[in-house]
Amino acid sequence: MRYDIVIIGGAIVGSSIAYYLREEGFSGSIALIERDPQFAHAATTLSMASIRQQFSIPENIRLSQFTLKLFRRLKEEFGADADIGFREGGYLILAGENGLPILKANHEAQIAEGADIVFEDAEQLTRRFAWLSAEGISAGAYGRTGEGWFDAHAMLMLFRKALRDKKIDFITASVTAIARDGNRITGVSLDNGQTLEAGIVVNAAGPNAGKVAAFAGLALPVEPRKRNVFVFEAREKYADMPLLVDPSGIYVRPEGSVYLTGGAEPEEGDGPADPADFEVDWPLFEEVIWPVLATRIPAFEAIKPTRAWAGHYDYNTLDQNAVIGPHPQVGNFLFANGFSGHGLQQAPAVGKALAELIVHGGYRTVDCSAFGYSRVAEGRAFRELNVI
Ligand SMILES: Cc1cc2nc3c(=O)[nH]c(=O)nc-3n(C[C@H](O)[C@H](O)[C@H](O)COP(=O)(O)OP(=O)(O)OC[C@H]3O[C@@H](n4cnc5c(N)ncnc54)[C@H](O)[C@@H]3O)c2cc1C
Repeated sequence: MRYDIVIIGGAIVGSSIAYYLREEGFSGSIALIERDPQFAHAATTLSMASIRQQFSIPENIRLSQFTLKLFRRLKEEFGADADIGFREGGYLILAGENGLPILKANHEAQIAEGADIVFEDAEQLTRRFAWLSAEGISAGAYGRTGEGWFDAHAMLMLFRKALRDKKIDFITASVTAIARDGNRITGVSLDNGQTLEAGIVVNAAGPNAGKVAAFAGLALPVEPRKRNVFVFEAREKYADMPLLVDPSGIYVRPEGSVYLTGGAEPEEGDGPADPADFEVDWPLFEEVIWPVLATRIPAFEAIKPTRAWAGHYDYNTLDQNAVIGPHPQVGNFLFANGFSGHGLQQAPAVGKALAELIVHGGYRTVDCSAFGYSRVAEGRAFRELNVI
């Protein structure tokens, strides 16, 4: 069996790459290999499903803006039934005195990219949001439009459904080895005993991407990092509440009639997760999250957690940014990895970018050269400062 392109990982990044390959006119054979077809453990379906413009790096803002444009014309792209429940509720990123210079610098980068973000001091913020306590806050940046949340599963299914009539071979299996002849990948082995020859292999394996790269003898500093998300109920409903990020890193946003919160994992001791560990670290809610929420939103003094889940970030330990494009020596091995908590919103743009690279030999819509692997080889960080 031979495929022109083998994509390892069929969640949002892999599906988006396959989708845009066909959109860009690629007519060769494509295999999309996924070991967990229910996506029970994929970062995609365990994510917070939010999109923002508030990044520090212009390239990251541009990737999100591509996806935002897609969200706004979803029905034109995917048909009249397409709906991912996109709610443009905004992000509100708060800073105390220490975080002020970075918040300001980030805001300038965002404005330069045309993002609709306002920078307001504590008094303006408490006037805008009556439920907010500005204790310890110097300022905040608020996305009036272009930021919000959506249904990640619905987004994934939209792409997967759109692939059905595009002559893509969906293979349910785990890739267990990658064969290489010098500087060329020649194929992949599957846990069902099959081997596939491959013209190009794309790594879209999410938190498992470091391992998949290692199958090809390539180093990629991407590892799973466990992140807990808690659902809670509160008596008060605030229709105007954005996704709020406290200076402590704790975030909270509404989700229908309940709220989602997280961001409590301590920096100290944050390391690679056991790939099989999806157990919720419940003490984080009581000990870390709740006191912060009760200070920031006094009405949240009385809240009730109802359920929770844990997922894995596809964490790039070098600079918390994506690695996109071919390996400089092994040119038929392509990376789409290391999104470190912002990959869902970047997936459509990255799919389009990689498809352009493969089909046309260069980026046309969003230039992703800065995300290239060379920086990894050189140990040169291209750091995103706004990692949530
Ligand atoms: C708690 C949490 C909150 C998040 N919040 C957001 C957010 O609000 N906004 C945002 O943009 N991003 C967010 N993210 C990050 C985002 O979810 C990821 O960056 C994105 O989903 C990565 O997509 P992916 O397709 O690369 O990875 P995944 O969704 O993990 O998919 C990778 C797939 O590859 C498969 N696979 C792996 N290895 C193999 C193999 N050897 N053989 C076959 N298949 C394989 C896996 O089964 C998996 O389905 C969050 C992540 C988490 C965990």
